[in-house]
Order: sequence, then C-alpha cells, then structure tokens
Amino acid sequence: MKQVFGRPQGLKDAPFRFCPGCGHSILHRLVAECLDEMELRELTIAIAPVGCAVFAYDYFNFDVIEIPHGRPPAAATGIKRMLPDRVVLSYQGDGDLAAIGTAEIIHAANRGENITVLFVNNGIYGMTGGQLAPTTLTGQKTTTTPGGRTPADAGHPLRVSELLAQLDGVSFIARSAVDSAANVIKTKNLLKKALRYQVEGKGFSMVEVLSPCPTSWKMSPEDALRWVAEDMQKTFPLGTLKDIYPETPGNGDNGGDDE
Ligand code: SF4
Repeated sequence: MKQVFGRPQGLKDAPFRFCPGCGHSILHRLVAECLDEMELRELTIAIAPVGCAVFAYDYFNFDVIEIPHGRPPAAATGIKRMLPDRVVLSYQGDGDLAAIGTAEIIHAANRGENITVLFVNNGIYGMTGGQLAPTTLTGQKTTTTPGGRTPADAGHPLRVSELLAQLDGVSFIARSAVDSAANVIKTKNLLKKALRYQVEGKGFSMVEVLSPCPTSWKMSPEDALRWVAEDMQKTFPLGTLKDIYPETPGNGDNGGDDE
C-alpha cells in the first residue's frame, strides 16, 4: 500500500512528551514539514527555549541548541552572524519571549537580525504550573491570579507582535493560530514565508502562533481550541502585522503557499 502520510525527516522517531491537545506538538510537526519541503533541514540551527519546548532537541532531527531563559534572540544573533549561510530558527514560548526575554527580542528585532522567530503564545506559564504570563487575557484565571487577571493588579495583555511591528528592523511579522485545520495550514504557510525571508536576507521575521495549553488552562483539548478561537483572538487578532515586501509575487496573507 502506498504511504501517504508519514513522519517528516525533520522529526526524530521519538514520542512527544507534551500533554494531550498541546499546540507544541502541532508546531513541532509544522516546523519539520516546512524545513523538509524547503530543503533547509540540514542547514538549520534551531534554538530551544526554557519552557515546555525545552526538549526540542529530543524531537527535531537537525541541530538544536539550548539557551538560558529569554536569551534565544541574543544567541541566534551570534550564530547567524558567525554562520550567515545557516538558517537560524528561534522557537520561543511567551514566558521566554514576552517576559524574561523582552529586551532580547526587542533589540534583535530592532537591529534587523536576519533570523526567524516562532513565538508560541499560550497565554500562561505552562511548564511551571500555570502562572500569569504577560500574554494572559484580562479576566483569565491562573495560579497567580485565581480571581482572574485585572489590569489594576497585573496590567494588560502584552501584544508583542504589534510592539515589534513598529520597529524599523522588522521585515515580516504575522499572527496565526492552530485552532482549526485551516489555521494550521495558514500557520505553516506563514512560517514558510518567514523562513524564505531569512534565506533571501530580508531581515528579522517572526510568526506568533496562538496555541492551546489545555493542562494549565484546566480545560479539555476541545474547550482549549474553542478558547483560542473565541477568547484569545479577541485580544490577539490574526493576520499580517508587518510585511515590507508585500508586492513580492506569492506573498499573500497566508504566506503565498496555497497548497
Ligand atoms: S503544560 Fe501546556 S504548553 Fe506545556 S506541554 Fe502541557 S499543554 Fe503543552
């Protein structure tokens, strides 16, 4: 029988240790598929964050380096400047990128470093037990905001992509989600586009992905997908926030790959 669906070369033959319904599983597969299809796997150096994606090196079948919490953009900068022919992908959660690593991501983006960032926003600190993150929604209950986040006590949800889109060094920023099959395909195409910009030397590119964390949200996987679609997207609307080459053929909002 002809095999029509298999493990991408970019993934090792290792079972994921993510919780059932976690968006990281989908995103790991998408990263692997993109690198396979773009024939970039052997050129890629990925950077794993501290957080639930900390074991990326156990799953990805290409070079992965582990970096202290929040510092992946700084490490990515050094790697890319030393090895400009390699593709550098910084895989970061919101605790890593939007909290402890805020300075690193702002300065890497502002310098226009020719790297690609995959920013996984699940609105909470997943690995450490479900504490408030900068991206936690107003009213969302976490272990450190048991009555729900209030702007008076904890400020407002931080829209990092909108913030970074203001910076002159940024070439491409888009926000997607993995709450439906259609959005998973869009996410893949946006990631391909961001990687293509790096290959073409166009500067800093980032795709933010709204991603379910059923365990720390204390929801079923189905309810977590509904939360992404119906609650997260009100605060974090999907779409392209910045694209300095919108007229390039094939550069539609979905990344230009409609397969
Ligand atoms: S805690 Fe959340 S983000 Fe972490 S593996 Fe579980 S579902 Fe995924």
